[in-house]
Amino acid sequence: MSVKNEPSFRESVDLMFNRAVSLLDLPPGLEEKIRVCNATYTVRFGVRLRGSLQTFTGYRSVHSEHMEPVKGGIRYSMGVNQDEVEALAALMTYKCALVEAPFGGSKGGLCIDPREYEEHELELITRRFAYELAKRDLIHPSQNVPAPDMGTGEREMAWIADQYARMNTTDINAKACVTGKPLNAGGIAGRVEATGRGVQYALQEFFRDARDVEKAGMSGTLDGKAVIVQGLGNVGYHAAKFLVEEDGAKVIGVIERDGAVTNPAGLKIDELHNWILKHGGVKGFPGATYVENGALVLEEECDILIPAALEGVINLTNAAKVKAPLIIEAANGPITAGADDILREKGTVIIPDMYANAGGVTVSYFEWVKNLSHIRFGRMQRRQEEARHQLVVDQLESLSDAMGNAWSPSPDFKQKYLRGAGELELVRSGLDDTMRTAYQSMRELWHEREDVTDLRIAAYLVSIGKVASSYRAKGL
Ligand code: GLU
Repeated sequence: MSVKNEPSFRESVDLMFNRAVSLLDLPPGLEEKIRVCNATYTVRFGVRLRGSLQTFTGYRSVHSEHMEPVKGGIRYSMGVNQDEVEALAALMTYKCALVEAPFGGSKGGLCIDPREYEEHELELITRRFAYELAKRDLIHPSQNVPAPDMGTGEREMAWIADQYARMNTTDINAKACVTGKPLNAGGIAGRVEATGRGVQYALQEFFRDARDVEKAGMSGTLDGKAVIVQGLGNVGYHAAKFLVEEDGAKVIGVIERDGAVTNPAGLKIDELHNWILKHGGVKGFPGATYVENGALVLEEECDILIPAALEGVINLTNAAKVKAPLIIEAANGPITAGADDILREKGTVIIPDMYANAGGVTVSYFEWVKNLSHIRFGRMQRRQEEARHQLVVDQLESLSDAMGNAWSPSPDFKQKYLRGAGELELVRSGLDDTMRTAYQSMRELWHEREDVTDLRIAAYLVSIGKVASSYRAKGL
Protein backbone atom coordinates (compact mmCIF):
# COMPACT_ATOMS: atom_id res chain seq x y z
CA MET A 1 0.00 0.00 0.00
CA SER A 2 1.47 3.38 -0.86
CA VAL A 3 0.31 6.58 0.74
CA LYS A 4 1.68 10.02 -0.12
CA ASN A 5 4.61 11.09 2.11
CA GLU A 6 4.80 7.61 3.48
CA PRO A 7 8.22 5.96 3.36
CA SER A 8 8.46 2.59 1.61
CA PHE A 9 8.32 -0.58 3.73
CA ARG A 10 12.10 -0.93 3.67
CA GLU A 11 12.56 2.74 4.59
CA SER A 12 10.09 2.24 7.46
CA VAL A 13 12.15 -0.66 8.80
CA ASP A 14 15.33 1.42 8.46
CA LEU A 15 13.73 4.41 10.20
CA MET A 16 12.71 2.22 13.11
CA PHE A 17 16.19 0.69 13.19
CA ASN A 18 17.74 4.18 13.23
CA ARG A 19 15.56 5.31 16.11
CA ALA A 20 16.81 2.37 18.16
CA VAL A 21 20.42 2.42 17.10
CA SER A 22 20.79 6.05 18.19
CA LEU A 23 20.51 4.72 21.75
CA LEU A 24 23.32 2.21 21.29
CA ASP A 25 26.99 2.87 21.32
CA LEU A 26 28.12 0.80 18.34
CA PRO A 27 31.62 1.07 16.86
CA PRO A 28 31.73 3.22 13.70
CA GLY A 29 30.66 1.31 10.62
CA LEU A 30 29.03 -1.56 12.45
CA GLU A 31 25.66 0.18 12.49
CA GLU A 32 25.74 0.51 8.69
CA LYS A 33 26.95 -3.10 8.33
CA ILE A 34 23.98 -4.38 10.33
CA ARG A 35 21.40 -2.17 8.60
CA VAL A 36 22.22 -2.91 4.97
CA CYS A 37 20.94 -5.89 3.08
CA ASN A 38 23.90 -8.06 1.99
CA ALA A 39 22.51 -9.27 -1.32
CA THR A 40 19.32 -9.67 -3.28
CA TYR A 41 19.12 -12.16 -6.10
CA THR A 42 16.50 -11.61 -8.78
CA VAL A 43 15.56 -14.44 -11.06
CA ARG A 44 13.33 -14.46 -14.12
CA PHE A 45 12.41 -17.89 -15.36
CA GLY A 46 10.03 -19.32 -17.89
CA VAL A 47 7.52 -22.12 -17.40
CA ARG A 48 5.48 -23.59 -20.22
CA LEU A 49 1.84 -23.41 -19.13
CA ARG A 50 -1.42 -23.67 -21.03
CA GLY A 51 0.40 -23.88 -24.33
CA SER A 52 2.61 -20.82 -23.94
CA LEU A 53 5.77 -19.82 -22.15
CA GLN A 54 5.14 -17.62 -19.10
CA THR A 55 7.87 -15.65 -17.40
CA PHE A 56 7.93 -15.25 -13.61
CA THR A 57 10.00 -12.94 -11.44
CA GLY A 58 11.28 -14.12 -8.07
CA TYR A 59 13.64 -12.84 -5.39
CA ARG A 60 15.71 -14.17 -2.53
CA SER A 61 17.24 -11.54 -0.34
CA VAL A 62 19.91 -12.17 2.28
CA HIS A 63 20.03 -9.44 4.86
CA SER A 64 22.62 -10.62 7.34
CA GLU A 65 24.94 -13.61 7.48
CA HIS A 66 26.25 -13.06 11.00
CA MET A 67 24.85 -16.54 11.55
CA GLU A 68 24.24 -19.23 8.98
CA PRO A 69 22.08 -20.64 7.61
CA VAL A 70 20.01 -17.58 6.91
CA LYS A 71 16.29 -18.07 7.37
CA GLY A 72 13.00 -16.66 6.19
CA GLY A 73 9.87 -17.44 4.25
CA ILE A 74 8.99 -17.37 0.58
CA ARG A 75 5.82 -15.48 -0.29
CA TYR A 76 3.64 -15.69 -3.35
CA SER A 77 1.91 -12.40 -3.99
CA MET A 78 1.48 -9.83 -6.72
CA GLY A 79 2.84 -7.22 -4.30
CA VAL A 80 6.28 -8.88 -4.12
CA ASN A 81 9.16 -6.61 -5.14
CA GLN A 82 12.77 -6.03 -4.16
CA ASP A 83 11.98 -3.34 -1.59
CA GLU A 84 9.51 -5.66 0.13
CA VAL A 85 11.73 -8.75 0.29
CA GLU A 86 14.61 -6.65 1.59
CA ALA A 87 12.46 -5.16 4.35
CA LEU A 88 11.19 -8.62 5.26
CA ALA A 89 14.70 -10.09 5.22
CA ALA A 90 15.87 -7.35 7.60
CA LEU A 91 12.98 -8.14 9.93
CA MET A 92 14.01 -11.81 9.82
CA THR A 93 17.50 -10.89 11.04
CA TYR A 94 16.11 -8.98 14.01
CA LYS A 95 13.39 -11.56 14.67
CA CYS A 96 15.80 -14.50 14.81
CA ALA A 97 18.21 -12.60 17.05
CA LEU A 98 15.43 -11.59 19.44
CA VAL A 99 14.13 -15.14 19.93
CA GLU A 100 17.60 -16.67 19.81
CA ALA A 101 17.04 -18.77 16.71
CA PRO A 102 20.60 -19.21 15.43
CA PHE A 103 20.04 -17.83 11.95
CA GLY A 104 20.76 -14.79 9.83
CA GLY A 105 17.87 -13.11 8.04
CA SER A 106 16.59 -13.82 4.55
CA LYS A 107 13.33 -13.67 2.60
CA GLY A 108 12.07 -14.66 -0.78
CA GLY A 109 9.15 -13.92 -2.96
CA LEU A 110 7.56 -14.75 -6.25
CA CYS A 111 5.47 -12.18 -8.03
CA ILE A 112 2.40 -14.30 -8.70
CA ASP A 113 -1.24 -14.56 -7.66
CA PRO A 114 -1.43 -18.23 -6.63
CA ARG A 115 -5.23 -18.25 -6.90
CA GLU A 116 -4.89 -17.88 -10.67
CA TYR A 117 -3.21 -21.27 -11.08
CA GLU A 118 -4.14 -24.92 -10.84
CA GLU A 119 -2.29 -27.10 -8.35
CA HIS A 120 -0.20 -28.89 -10.98
CA GLU A 121 0.79 -25.52 -12.50
CA LEU A 122 1.83 -24.18 -9.10
CA GLU A 123 3.92 -27.29 -8.63
CA LEU A 124 5.75 -26.71 -11.92
CA ILE A 125 6.34 -23.04 -11.05
CA THR A 126 7.48 -23.82 -7.50
CA ARG A 127 9.85 -26.57 -8.57
CA ARG A 128 11.39 -24.33 -11.20
CA PHE A 129 11.80 -21.46 -8.72
CA ALA A 130 13.32 -23.86 -6.19
CA TYR A 131 15.71 -25.17 -8.84
CA GLU A 132 16.86 -21.63 -9.66
CA LEU A 133 17.47 -20.85 -5.98
CA ALA A 134 19.00 -24.21 -5.04
CA LYS A 135 21.57 -24.14 -7.83
CA ARG A 136 22.89 -20.89 -6.33
CA ASP A 137 22.83 -22.26 -2.76
CA LEU A 138 19.95 -19.94 -1.94
CA ILE A 139 18.19 -23.07 -0.72
CA HIS A 140 20.58 -25.18 1.32
CA PRO A 141 20.41 -26.86 4.78
CA SER A 142 23.51 -25.07 6.03
CA GLN A 143 23.24 -21.83 4.07
CA ASN A 144 19.71 -20.72 3.35
CA VAL A 145 16.54 -22.33 4.66
CA PRO A 146 13.20 -21.00 3.38
CA ALA A 147 9.77 -21.53 4.97
CA PRO A 148 6.15 -20.65 4.25
CA ASP A 149 4.90 -17.10 4.15
CA MET A 150 1.93 -15.33 2.63
CA GLY A 151 0.48 -17.38 -0.24
CA THR A 152 2.57 -20.48 0.47
CA GLY A 153 2.20 -23.38 2.88
CA GLU A 154 3.08 -27.00 3.58
CA ARG A 155 2.34 -28.08 0.03
CA GLU A 156 4.87 -25.68 -1.54
CA MET A 157 7.47 -26.56 1.10
CA ALA A 158 7.08 -30.27 0.28
CA TRP A 159 7.72 -29.52 -3.42
CA ILE A 160 10.77 -27.41 -2.55
CA ALA A 161 12.18 -30.13 -0.26
CA ASP A 162 11.66 -32.77 -2.93
CA GLN A 163 13.22 -30.59 -5.63
CA TYR A 164 16.28 -29.99 -3.45
CA ALA A 165 16.54 -33.73 -2.66
CA ARG A 166 16.43 -34.58 -6.38
CA MET A 167 19.27 -32.16 -7.03
CA ASN A 168 21.33 -33.36 -4.04
CA THR A 169 20.80 -37.08 -3.96
CA THR A 170 23.61 -37.85 -1.50
CA ASP A 171 22.89 -35.09 1.02
CA ILE A 172 21.76 -36.89 4.15
CA ASN A 173 20.50 -33.59 5.59
CA ALA A 174 18.51 -32.65 2.53
CA LYS A 175 15.22 -32.39 4.46
CA ALA A 176 16.66 -29.52 6.51
CA CYS A 177 16.81 -27.35 3.36
CA VAL A 178 13.36 -25.94 4.05
CA THR A 179 10.95 -25.81 7.02
CA GLY A 180 7.18 -25.79 7.27
CA LYS A 181 6.96 -29.14 5.52
CA PRO A 182 4.03 -31.50 6.11
CA LEU A 183 4.58 -33.98 8.94
CA ASN A 184 4.89 -36.88 6.51
CA ALA A 185 7.61 -35.09 4.55
CA GLY A 186 9.88 -34.25 7.46
CA GLY A 187 7.82 -31.54 9.13
CA ILE A 188 7.22 -31.04 12.83
CA ALA A 189 4.01 -31.17 14.86
CA GLY A 190 2.65 -27.71 15.60
CA ARG A 191 4.40 -25.76 12.80
CA VAL A 192 1.21 -24.75 10.96
CA GLU A 193 -0.32 -23.17 14.07
CA ALA A 194 3.02 -21.85 15.37
CA THR A 195 2.81 -18.18 14.40
CA GLY A 196 -0.76 -17.84 15.70
CA ARG A 197 0.19 -19.76 18.83
CA GLY A 198 3.14 -17.38 19.28
CA VAL A 199 0.77 -14.40 19.11
CA GLN A 200 -1.31 -16.02 21.85
CA TYR A 201 1.75 -16.70 24.04
CA ALA A 202 2.94 -13.12 23.48
CA LEU A 203 -0.37 -11.71 24.69
CA GLN A 204 -0.44 -14.08 27.64
CA GLU A 205 2.99 -12.84 28.70
CA PHE A 206 1.95 -9.21 28.22
CA PHE A 207 -1.05 -9.75 30.49
CA ARG A 208 1.11 -11.43 33.16
CA ASP A 209 2.52 -8.07 34.22
CA ALA A 210 -0.04 -5.58 35.52
CA ARG A 211 2.35 -2.71 34.80
CA ASP A 212 2.32 -3.50 31.08
CA VAL A 213 -1.45 -3.89 31.03
CA GLU A 214 -1.74 -0.54 32.80
CA LYS A 215 0.49 1.13 30.22
CA ALA A 216 -2.19 0.22 27.68
CA GLY A 217 -4.86 1.69 29.98
CA MET A 218 -6.38 -1.72 30.67
CA SER A 219 -6.69 -4.05 33.62
CA GLY A 220 -7.31 -7.72 34.26
CA THR A 221 -6.55 -10.64 32.01
CA LEU A 222 -7.28 -11.66 28.43
CA ASP A 223 -10.62 -13.02 29.58
CA GLY A 224 -13.45 -10.98 28.06
CA LYS A 225 -11.17 -8.66 26.07
CA ALA A 226 -12.61 -7.46 22.76
CA VAL A 227 -10.38 -8.26 19.80
CA ILE A 228 -10.42 -7.19 16.14
CA VAL A 229 -8.42 -9.29 13.69
CA GLN A 230 -7.41 -8.25 10.22
CA GLY A 231 -6.82 -11.28 8.02
CA LEU A 232 -8.12 -14.73 8.91
CA GLY A 233 -5.30 -16.52 7.11
CA ASN A 234 -3.07 -19.05 8.82
CA VAL A 235 -1.73 -16.59 11.43
CA GLY A 236 -4.90 -14.60 12.13
CA TYR A 237 -7.10 -17.68 12.25
CA HIS A 238 -4.98 -19.58 14.75
CA ALA A 239 -4.36 -16.54 16.94
CA ALA A 240 -8.09 -15.73 17.03
CA LYS A 241 -9.10 -19.35 17.62
CA PHE A 242 -6.73 -19.90 20.55
CA LEU A 243 -7.49 -16.53 22.16
CA VAL A 244 -11.21 -17.29 22.08
CA GLU A 245 -11.08 -20.99 22.97
CA GLU A 246 -8.34 -20.94 25.57
CA ASP A 247 -8.15 -17.40 26.99
CA GLY A 248 -11.79 -16.29 26.93
CA ALA A 249 -11.22 -13.34 24.58
CA LYS A 250 -14.03 -12.19 22.27
CA VAL A 251 -13.35 -11.55 18.59
CA ILE A 252 -15.81 -8.75 17.77
CA GLY A 253 -14.57 -8.01 14.25
CA VAL A 254 -12.77 -9.76 11.41
CA ILE A 255 -11.52 -7.87 8.38
CA GLU A 256 -10.90 -9.76 5.15
CA ARG A 257 -10.25 -8.96 1.50
CA ASP A 258 -13.93 -8.45 0.63
CA GLY A 259 -14.93 -6.45 3.71
CA ALA A 260 -15.43 -7.08 7.40
CA VAL A 261 -17.91 -8.74 9.73
CA THR A 262 -18.63 -7.58 13.25
CA ASN A 263 -20.57 -8.90 16.20
CA PRO A 264 -20.17 -7.28 19.65
CA ALA A 265 -21.11 -10.59 21.30
CA GLY A 266 -18.18 -12.36 19.59
CA LEU A 267 -17.78 -14.18 16.28
CA LYS A 268 -17.51 -17.97 15.99
CA ILE A 269 -14.04 -18.30 14.54
CA ASP A 270 -14.16 -21.82 13.15
CA GLU A 271 -17.52 -21.21 11.51
CA LEU A 272 -16.29 -17.96 9.99
CA HIS A 273 -13.08 -19.59 8.81
CA ASN A 274 -15.04 -22.37 7.10
CA TRP A 275 -17.35 -19.76 5.56
CA ILE A 276 -14.37 -17.90 4.09
CA LEU A 277 -12.89 -21.11 2.70
CA LYS A 278 -16.21 -21.97 1.07
CA HIS A 279 -17.34 -18.56 -0.16
CA GLY A 280 -14.02 -16.79 -0.69
CA GLY A 281 -14.90 -13.96 1.70
CA VAL A 282 -16.78 -12.89 4.81
CA LYS A 283 -19.82 -11.41 3.06
CA GLY A 284 -23.09 -13.09 4.00
CA PHE A 285 -21.72 -14.76 7.16
CA PRO A 286 -24.83 -15.36 9.28
CA GLY A 287 -25.22 -13.64 12.63
CA ALA A 288 -22.84 -10.77 11.93
CA THR A 289 -22.96 -7.28 10.46
CA TYR A 290 -21.19 -6.94 7.13
CA VAL A 291 -19.12 -3.81 6.49
CA GLU A 292 -18.11 -3.34 2.89
CA ASN A 293 -15.24 -0.97 3.57
CA GLY A 294 -13.41 -3.38 5.86
CA ALA A 295 -10.54 -1.00 6.63
CA LEU A 296 -12.96 1.13 8.67
CA VAL A 297 -13.20 -1.67 11.21
CA LEU A 298 -9.52 -1.07 12.04
CA GLU A 299 -10.78 2.17 13.59
CA GLU A 300 -13.50 0.58 15.77
CA GLU A 301 -13.39 0.51 19.56
CA CYS A 302 -11.79 -2.66 20.93
CA ASP A 303 -9.16 -3.73 23.46
CA ILE A 304 -6.74 -5.49 21.14
CA LEU A 305 -6.20 -5.00 17.43
CA ILE A 306 -4.40 -7.80 15.58
CA PRO A 307 -3.31 -6.86 12.06
CA ALA A 308 -2.45 -10.27 10.61
CA ALA A 309 -2.49 -9.57 6.90
CA LEU A 310 -0.49 -7.09 4.88
CA GLU A 311 2.17 -4.47 5.57
CA GLY A 312 1.33 -0.78 5.73
CA VAL A 313 -2.35 -1.16 6.64
CA ILE A 314 -2.05 1.29 9.53
CA ASN A 315 -0.52 4.35 7.94
CA LEU A 316 -0.66 8.14 7.92
CA THR A 317 -4.23 8.13 6.65
CA ASN A 318 -5.80 6.17 9.50
CA ALA A 319 -3.35 5.96 12.43
CA ALA A 320 -4.90 8.90 14.31
CA LYS A 321 -8.30 7.22 14.10
CA VAL A 322 -7.25 3.81 15.44
CA LYS A 323 -8.81 3.48 18.90
CA ALA A 324 -7.37 0.16 20.13
CA PRO A 325 -5.11 0.77 23.15
CA LEU A 326 -3.09 -2.36 22.33
CA ILE A 327 -1.97 -3.49 18.88
CA ILE A 328 -0.10 -6.73 18.30
CA GLU A 329 1.57 -6.93 14.90
CA ALA A 330 0.93 -10.50 13.80
CA ALA A 331 1.81 -9.50 10.22
CA ASN A 332 5.19 -8.12 9.23
CA GLY A 333 5.25 -4.32 8.99
CA PRO A 334 1.51 -3.58 9.31
CA ILE A 335 2.27 -0.19 10.89
CA THR A 336 4.34 2.30 8.88
CA ALA A 337 7.03 4.36 10.58
CA GLY A 338 4.83 7.48 10.31
CA ALA A 339 1.83 5.70 11.83
CA ASP A 340 4.09 4.33 14.56
CA ASP A 341 5.01 7.92 15.57
CA ILE A 342 1.34 8.94 15.71
CA LEU A 343 0.31 5.90 17.74
CA ARG A 344 3.18 6.24 20.21
CA GLU A 345 2.24 9.88 20.69
CA LYS A 346 -1.31 8.76 21.54
CA GLY A 347 -0.03 6.21 24.06
CA THR A 348 -1.04 3.13 22.07
CA VAL A 349 1.00 0.12 23.15
CA ILE A 350 2.37 -1.85 20.19
CA ILE A 351 3.76 -5.36 20.49
CA PRO A 352 6.09 -5.28 17.48
CA ASP A 353 6.13 -7.69 14.54
CA MET A 354 9.68 -8.94 14.98
CA TYR A 355 8.60 -10.33 18.33
CA ALA A 356 4.88 -10.91 17.88
CA ASN A 357 5.10 -13.19 14.84
CA ALA A 358 8.37 -14.91 15.75
CA GLY A 359 6.54 -18.12 16.69
CA GLY A 360 6.77 -19.31 13.10
CA VAL A 361 10.52 -19.13 12.81
CA THR A 362 10.93 -20.48 16.34
CA VAL A 363 9.15 -23.71 15.44
CA SER A 364 10.97 -23.70 12.09
CA TYR A 365 14.15 -23.79 14.14
CA PHE A 366 12.85 -26.86 16.01
CA GLU A 367 11.97 -28.50 12.69
CA TRP A 368 15.42 -27.81 11.27
CA VAL A 369 17.02 -29.33 14.40
CA LYS A 370 14.69 -32.33 14.11
CA ASN A 371 15.73 -32.83 10.48
CA LEU A 372 19.41 -32.63 11.33
CA SER A 373 19.07 -35.01 14.25
CA HIS A 374 16.91 -37.41 12.21
CA ILE A 375 14.68 -38.23 15.16
CA ARG A 376 11.29 -37.06 16.37
CA PHE A 377 11.30 -34.99 19.56
CA GLY A 378 10.25 -37.05 22.57
CA ARG A 379 10.84 -40.41 20.92
CA MET A 380 13.54 -41.51 23.36
CA GLN A 381 12.17 -40.17 26.65
CA ARG A 382 8.39 -40.19 26.43
CA ARG A 383 7.67 -43.68 27.80
CA GLN A 384 10.47 -43.48 30.32
CA GLU A 385 8.92 -40.29 31.64
CA GLU A 386 5.55 -42.03 31.87
CA ALA A 387 7.10 -44.96 33.75
CA ARG A 388 8.67 -42.63 36.32
CA HIS A 389 5.40 -40.76 36.82
CA GLN A 390 3.63 -44.10 37.24
CA LEU A 391 6.06 -44.96 40.06
CA VAL A 392 5.14 -41.78 41.93
CA VAL A 393 1.41 -42.31 41.42
CA ASP A 394 1.68 -45.96 42.59
CA GLN A 395 3.51 -44.86 45.72
CA LEU A 396 0.96 -42.16 46.48
CA GLU A 397 -1.90 -44.59 45.96
CA SER A 398 -0.49 -47.18 48.32
CA LEU A 399 0.24 -44.47 50.89
CA SER A 400 -3.29 -43.20 50.45
CA ASP A 401 -4.68 -46.73 50.95
CA ALA A 402 -2.68 -47.13 54.13
CA MET A 403 -4.12 -43.83 55.40
CA GLY A 404 -7.71 -44.79 54.66
CA ASN A 405 -8.04 -43.27 51.20
CA ALA A 406 -6.62 -39.91 52.24
CA TRP A 407 -5.72 -38.96 48.65
CA SER A 408 -8.44 -38.35 46.09
CA PRO A 409 -7.02 -36.74 42.98
CA SER A 410 -9.29 -35.02 40.48
CA PRO A 411 -10.46 -37.42 37.74
CA ASP A 412 -8.19 -36.10 34.98
CA PHE A 413 -5.14 -35.58 37.21
CA LYS A 414 -3.80 -39.07 36.69
CA GLN A 415 -4.35 -38.99 32.98
CA LYS A 416 -2.64 -35.61 32.61
CA TYR A 417 0.18 -36.28 35.01
CA LEU A 418 1.01 -39.72 33.67
CA ARG A 419 1.19 -38.71 30.04
CA GLY A 420 4.76 -38.23 28.81
CA ALA A 421 5.41 -35.31 26.49
CA GLY A 422 5.17 -36.06 22.77
CA GLU A 423 6.47 -33.87 19.99
CA LEU A 424 3.52 -31.46 20.01
CA GLU A 425 3.74 -30.86 23.76
CA LEU A 426 7.48 -30.30 23.51
CA VAL A 427 7.10 -27.90 20.59
CA ARG A 428 4.49 -25.90 22.48
CA SER A 429 6.61 -25.83 25.60
CA GLY A 430 9.67 -24.68 23.64
CA LEU A 431 7.63 -22.03 21.86
CA ASP A 432 6.03 -20.76 25.06
CA ASP A 433 9.41 -20.53 26.76
CA THR A 434 10.90 -18.70 23.76
CA MET A 435 8.06 -16.18 23.59
CA ARG A 436 8.17 -15.53 27.34
CA THR A 437 11.94 -15.16 27.48
CA ALA A 438 12.08 -12.80 24.51
CA TYR A 439 9.25 -10.68 25.91
CA GLN A 440 10.98 -10.49 29.27
CA SER A 441 14.16 -9.19 27.64
CA MET A 442 12.13 -6.38 26.02
CA ARG A 443 10.12 -5.70 29.18
CA GLU A 444 13.24 -5.25 31.25
CA LEU A 445 14.52 -2.47 28.97
CA TRP A 446 11.07 -0.91 28.66
CA HIS A 447 10.72 -0.58 32.41
CA GLU A 448 14.27 0.19 33.33
CA ARG A 449 15.46 2.68 30.73
CA GLU A 450 13.78 6.02 30.41
CA ASP A 451 14.86 6.43 26.78
CA VAL A 452 13.25 3.10 25.88
CA THR A 453 9.74 4.44 25.44
CA ASP A 454 8.11 1.50 23.71
CA LEU A 455 8.37 -2.22 23.02
CA ARG A 456 9.51 -1.78 19.42
CA ILE A 457 12.59 0.16 20.42
CA ALA A 458 13.23 -2.41 23.15
CA ALA A 459 12.95 -5.24 20.60
CA TYR A 460 15.39 -3.54 18.24
CA LEU A 461 17.84 -2.86 21.08
CA VAL A 462 17.87 -6.47 22.20
CA SER A 463 18.24 -7.84 18.71
CA ILE A 464 20.75 -5.32 17.36
CA GLY A 465 22.82 -5.93 20.49
CA LYS A 466 22.87 -9.66 19.73
CA VAL A 467 23.71 -9.21 16.05
CA ALA A 468 26.46 -6.74 16.98
CA SER A 469 28.05 -9.16 19.41
CA SER A 470 28.07 -11.93 16.78
CA TYR A 471 29.80 -9.59 14.36
CA ARG A 472 32.30 -8.59 17.04
CA ALA A 473 33.00 -12.24 17.78
CA LYS A 474 33.81 -12.67 14.09
CA GLY A 475 36.36 -9.87 14.41
CA LEU A 476 34.37 -7.30 12.44
N1 GLU B 1 7.60 -16.54 7.05
C1 GLU B 1 7.68 -16.61 8.47
C2 GLU B 1 8.19 -15.29 9.04
O1 GLU B 1 8.05 -14.26 8.45
C3 GLU B 1 8.46 -17.81 8.94
C4 GLU B 1 9.88 -17.83 8.56
C5 GLU B 1 10.59 -19.13 8.92
O2 GLU B 1 9.98 -19.96 9.54
O3 GLU B 1 11.74 -19.25 8.52
O4 GLU B 1 8.66 -15.22 10.12
